Amino acid sequence: MPDLSRYREKRDFRATPEPRGRKGRPRKSGLLFVIQRHAARVEHYDLRLEIGGVLASWSVPKGPSSDPRDRRLAIQTEDHPLQYADFEGRIPAGEYGGGVMIIWDRGQYRNLREGTDMAECRDGGRIDIWLDGEKLTGPWSLRRTGGQGERSRWLLLKRKGDGADARRDPLRFEPQPVVSGRTLEELLRPASGGSRTRTR
Ligand code: MN
Repeated sequence: MPDLSRYREKRDFRATPEPRGRKGRPRKSGLLFVIQRHAARVEHYDLRLEIGGVLASWSVPKGPSSDPRDRRLAIQTEDHPLQYADFEGRIPAGEYGGGVMIIWDRGQYRNLREGTDMAECRDGGRIDIWLDGEKLTGPWSLRRTGGQGERSRWLLLKRKGDGADARRDPLRFEPQPVVSGRTLEELLRPASGGSRTRTR
């Protein structure tokens, strides 16, 4: 069941600029997706899909690949509020997820498994979707390979067809945020002017 209690437990909203947010009404169409690049203790990408009025979330250590031969590990994390799709900024050091987050890609998606709603797809560990993002498009899949719920392990796969391209590495060639006008370098620059503490 979509639930924001874990999201709220992990955060002190007096300290972090992240939205407290609230659960939205479940929708069947116009579903939101976002991929955030998160320069935390270890840099990674966060994939979020609107399911049941919240953003179901996965941490993808290596980020998405547009090469259908690649399989990228995706670890399920706590559900986030829909308002999180607009979040870009600095989470203070010492807070959960401390570091900088940018909106790397965003758009809508649709469920390719007709007759099975997205909550069932997630619970069953099998998600097939069509992304309409600014960078990522076409058919993608997520397959659960171990565990259940938070911390469960999945694989993120690009399917052949629209948007598949083994030579175009979107992480490398399209690194800029899609929402803010600020460059990635500006957003990653430490506020204190101190030395960079990114892992890579
Ligand atoms: Mn993250």
